[in-house]
Amino acid sequence: MSDLVLPAPPIPTVPVEGGGRFPVRRILCVGRNYAAHRREMGGDDRDPPFFFAKPADAVVPPGADPAYPSMTGDLHHEIELVVALGSGGANLTPAEALGAVFGYAVGVDLTRRDLQNAAKAKGQPWDAAKGFDGSAPISAIRRLEAAPQGRIALSVNGQARQAASVADMIWNVPEIIAEASKLWTLAAGDLIFTGTPEGVAALVRGDRVRGEVEGVGALEFQVV
Ligand code: MN
Repeated sequence: MSDLVLPAPPIPTVPVEGGGRFPVRRILCVGRNYAAHRREMGGDDRDPPFFFAKPADAVVPPGADPAYPSMTGDLHHEIELVVALGSGGANLTPAEALGAVFGYAVGVDLTRRDLQNAAKAKGQPWDAAKGFDGSAPISAIRRLEAAPQGRIALSVNGQARQAASVADMIWNVPEIIAEASKLWTLAAGDLIFTGTPEGVAALVRGDRVRGEVEGVGALEFQVV
């Protein structure tokens, strides 16, 4: 019998193509992993990529629509390849890291850009800018043998906003997992958003967003 003093919160889940649901444990995100986006954010090409996190319950599964968040006037889209881990560990080699992959999804790292810019200016943390409710819309997870290398793109109301190739990532999938495993012990249920290419821009209420990663799938939602 449980001695929990409150009901346990529900485990956030993401559907898996072909059936079943993937339980989300943690969400890690990579910053500045495409050179052109790093420059549009004011970074230097010599800066290494870095990690931040979103809470697991920030996921918005396919078919649901995220609400325009409070306390921002500059909500940005960031299309990203998402890696879903089926196992984990610490200090993984890139080869071990590939063995930990369960599958891949298409995700959008929604960002309160105005709050992020204010936090950067004051040296404050990014949690309110990145980890808000509904900040991680995601497609179903597709099981794949090899990491995707193709087109990654996002359109808003049918107009192209972001288009690049996953192969342009500065750090590739096994390198990202290996680096993250130096900082955290990774485990089954972890999602890693792998960074966005250039072309990030603002969304307004009512916008219809479509993101896709070649070989992985597509994600569509409306900001409500
Ligand atoms: Mn991002």
